[in-house]
Amino acid sequence: RRRPGQFHARHRRLRRRRGWGWAGARAGVELLCVVKAVLKKIGRRVVVGDRVLVGAVDWVDRRGMIENVFERSSEVADPPVANVDHFLLLFSMDNPKVEAFTLTRFLVEAESAALPLTLAFNKADLVHEQTREAWKIKLHEWGYQPLFCSVETGNGLDSLAYILKGQTSVIVGPSGVGKSSLINALRNAQDISAVAYEDNWFARFEGTRWYEDQRVGEVSSKSGRGKHTTRHVSLLPLSGGGYLADTPGFNQPSLLKVTKKTLPLMFPEIRKMLSEGEPSKCAFNDCMHLGEPGCVVKADWERYPYYLQLFDEIKIREEFQ
Ligand code: GDP
Ligand code: ZN
Repeated sequence: RRRPGQFHARHRRLRRRRGWGWAGARAGVELLCVVKAVLKKIGRRVVVGDRVLVGAVDWVDRRGMIENVFERSSEVADPPVANVDHFLLLFSMDNPKVEAFTLTRFLVEAESAALPLTLAFNKADLVHEQTREAWKIKLHEWGYQPLFCSVETGNGLDSLAYILKGQTSVIVGPSGVGKSSLINALRNAQDISAVAYEDNWFARFEGTRWYEDQRVGEVSSKSGRGKHTTRHVSLLPLSGGGYLADTPGFNQPSLLKVTKKTLPLMFPEIRKMLSEGEPSKCAFNDCMHLGEPGCVVKADWERYPYYLQLFDEIKIREEFQ
């Protein structure tokens, strides 16, 4: 709790040194960082997975200040995480039972991240092979190739570990599908998750990247902002190399990055009709595929009602924005 002016001369010298190159020489060091006010003022958020420039480092108190956020190669809105290579959507076959509309909502969220996507179903041990096959066929029609696994029996975990190897993946799925169980089965025994409150951040450097962890905890009544929902995102190293960004299960993806205009592109069925149809273009440039004349998107596919439902939802949201 020292003020800057109270720093010992040696600390002051250290505080002047900055940059991630230097921090890189100290792999494994954890710093509690605040975000520079100007970044907040211009609306630059720092999220888990961001690469950041840390300055004003005080190695004795292990504190620093995030002075800049580097450009992201990718970003996922929900959970907020940056620089991810791969999206792993995890559902379970049973308990909770997979439900087509919920799955569609999550798939749309996953598609909006514009990342390579793996759709995996856990708890395959709980259903008959016929049920699994039926879903496989259905999902094929939707445009996906699902992977089945069971943390309980270990089936399919090697394929998942192979897919996750060497890249940074975000794992998303409703609660109860076995996310924690899967992560425990996949990750290192060593626990490296970190927490931060309000504007304080723990930034860690390991190997070649920074990773951070944010938790918005209970906020004091003084700030008047009341209690926040906890959104804890952790970046966990996997034993085979690579990282897994984990967040607690949530049951309603926000679809924040999806607009009326981009929604059609989140459906492989529509993408297919638009690329392979004859003609392959709707009559209107701004066709929303809601039955306009000259629309090439037919209504005879399973998820068309879901498309309409999500379209209405996004339309209402956009009208209120
Ligand atoms: P999370 O909410 O997604 O993190 O789910 P958990 O990992 O907490 O798992 C929820 C419950 O499902 C726990 O009781 C697990 O033991 C159970 N579970 C996880 N994976 C499997 C599986 O492959 N098969 C069966 N039968 N149960 C599982
Ligand atoms: Zn159309």
